Amino acid sequence: MIFYKTEDEVEIIRQSAEILGRAHGEIAKLVAPGITTKKLDDVAEAFILDHKARPSFKGFNGFPSSLCISVNENVVHGFPGKYELKDGDIVSIDCGVFWNGFHSDSAYTYPVGNVNKEVLKLLEVTKQSLYVGIEQAVYGKRIGDVGQAIQDYVEGFGYSVVRELVGHGLGRDLHEGPEVPNYGKRGKGTKLNEGLVIAIEPMVNLGTKNIVQENDGWTIRTTDREPSAHFEHTIVIWKDKTEILTTHKYIEEVFKI
Ligand code: MG
Ligand code: MG
Repeated sequence: MIFYKTEDEVEIIRQSAEILGRAHGEIAKLVAPGITTKKLDDVAEAFILDHKARPSFKGFNGFPSSLCISVNENVVHGFPGKYELKDGDIVSIDCGVFWNGFHSDSAYTYPVGNVNKEVLKLLEVTKQSLYVGIEQAVYGKRIGDVGQAIQDYVEGFGYSVVRELVGHGLGRDLHEGPEVPNYGKRGKGTKLNEGLVIAIEPMVNLGTKNIVQENDGWTIRTTDREPSAHFEHTIVIWKDKTEILTTHKYIEEVFKI
């Protein structure tokens, strides 16, 4: 189901997104070789609870943690544990905040220490593809315009776009309609109307687009074990503009890529 939001509801999502952005900033300060993914999760969860909000992901369909942490060939839905980040890893950190009845959702993929140039390029292109998609996400266009723009951009660099996992509407629920694929056909799909809040989240693989779920029941990885990157913003469509509600600025204040 698609639920269009009022100005007042979007204001709450904006506040939720501010807590989320700052939580990402706290994580950014810690991402380095030697830190366990569990420690990152503990810090994010404490920060969110300290702000009287709740981590959206914890308990969602039984998900065990506050962050999705997906290293290297893991695409999304990895969960924290004893793993220590290593020099040369990349790590996707996806977080959601539930505040005053509304969710916000955003993700960022970090290089850990010295990452090889080929993989840094994957991060740069994936991040840029998010903004290429957002540029198309304007009033009166369609979901397919967003998907095709992301797909064309990413494939232009020889990368591939994951098909099975997509962006989504969100609000009172973490996942609402419509689905927002990172591929598609221009002019097709749901029309973007005023008050539509969606998470756009390209998942881009260095090699094959094919993915598989690990035996842990959650973690999605590339079948060829080549790295995958993931960036996400929550946005809202207004008649005269599109507003990015989540922010990566607190990450980028401490962590430049
Ligand atoms: Mg999402
Ligand atoms: Mg997310």
